Amino acid sequence: MSDKEYREIEAVHERDLPNLLSKFGVFEKFRAGEMKCKFCKEQVTSANIHSVLPESGAVHFICDKPDCIINFSEYIVEKNKGSTNDS
Ligand SMILES: [Zn+2]
Repeated sequence: MSDKEYREIEAVHERDLPNLLSKFGVFEKFRAGEMKCKFCKEQVTSANIHSVLPESGAVHFICDKPDCIINFSEYIVEKNKGSTNDS
C-alpha cells in the first residue's frame, strides 16, 4: 500500500508545498498559520518551513531553526533504530 511510510521530505520547495499539503489535507490549516513546529512549537510558515513529516495519520512540521533541524535528524535516526532493533 504505502511505500513511503516514515520518510521525511527534505527541502520542500515552496511551489510544491501547496500540492504536498493539500495531499495531506493540511493546506488550509497551514495557510491559516495553525501549523506549529514539532519541536519548538513555533508557527511554521512557507518562510521558515524545513520539512514535513507525515506520521501515524498526522502531519508534523519542522521549522528551519538549527536546533530543530538537529532534533529532526536525531528523531529520524531514532525511528530508524526502532525498526532495525539494533542496540
Ligand atoms: Zn522549530
